[in-house]
Amino acid sequence: MDYVQQDLWASEYVHEQSKPSPAVPFDPLSYDRYVVFFSGGKDSLACVLHLLEIGVPSRKIVLHHHLVDGAEGSNLMDWPVTEAYCKAVADHLGMPLETSWRVGGFEQEMLRQNSPTAAVMIPDGKGGHVAHGGQGPEGTRLKFPQVSADLSTRWCSAYLKIDIGSTYLRHDQRYRSGKTLVVTGERAQESAARAKYKTCEAHRADLRHGRQHQRHIDHWRPIHAWLEEQVWDIIRRHGIRAHPGYHLGWGRLSCRQCIFGSKNQWATIRLVAPQAFESINSYEKRFGVTIQRKHSVGQMADMGTPYECEQKWIDAANAREMTMEIYVGDNWEMPKGAFGESAGPT
Ligand code: SF4
Repeated sequence: MDYVQQDLWASEYVHEQSKPSPAVPFDPLSYDRYVVFFSGGKDSLACVLHLLEIGVPSRKIVLHHHLVDGAEGSNLMDWPVTEAYCKAVADHLGMPLETSWRVGGFEQEMLRQNSPTAAVMIPDGKGGHVAHGGQGPEGTRLKFPQVSADLSTRWCSAYLKIDIGSTYLRHDQRYRSGKTLVVTGERAQESAARAKYKTCEAHRADLRHGRQHQRHIDHWRPIHAWLEEQVWDIIRRHGIRAHPGYHLGWGRLSCRQCIFGSKNQWATIRLVAPQAFESINSYEKRFGVTIQRKHSVGQMADMGTPYECEQKWIDAANAREMTMEIYVGDNWEMPKGAFGESAGPT
């Protein structure tokens, strides 16, 4: 049995919020629209390609990308090329790419001092964005998120991705009719915490039995049981170039300056993106609190060995535009980072 079939047949779905037990069979082809939360990494790309392979029409799929650094000019955390890479994939597959973010991104949230968390910007349905929130309680951070599986202290995942996605689904009127399937690419192989995630459940923004209005939104993790080999295999089959970060040696594509970065990654960042490295280094000194409890990013970089990076991939990763073709067909190359270090969110 191939893994397309495995996923279709093995899935059984229980509504958590609506509680219509017993379990109803899950049919991934029964939805009116599909929202793939798309980071530009291999796992979310595999999800999109998997939807196409099981027969979901591309016109029903929206790729949605959260801008971790926001759209106001901060470059503190992410790969410069990621948004352009996501757009290139969306264009190639004939799907729209939508974006959302918290105003000021990671940097503004980290620098909160007696101030509320900033508003969230979501699509306004007319090609622009509209703000939601921003009037919450005042608070102070002045330190990096903690390296932890606990999302209350690892605030970046919650404040810059999960909450943004939910705000979007709760406020966009499109999701008040029909059935929506949200698709994300967490895999059990990535961490013990992710291994416990359900393959199918009602999405946290679901409101199918709301009194004033309803939102029927389910959440599917179609590649939860996949091995990394299967992920690269589907991307190779579709001839889509992997994000340049993988070609530099990263095994997972989180933020480039991810708080979970390994010693080798910090050593590589210092080499290929010295300004970005210095920004993190200066904030650690200013806060008097390092990202990793025991070592500063400078000490981590000193202990690591930089990946051997080709200049063409450094240039591609550091660009704001995609400078290479996204579709490479039979010339597809397995990136250097595949099956390598897999530092990243747990
Ligand atoms: S990729 Fe790393 S730094 Fe970026 S939001 Fe996720 S956990 Fe935080």
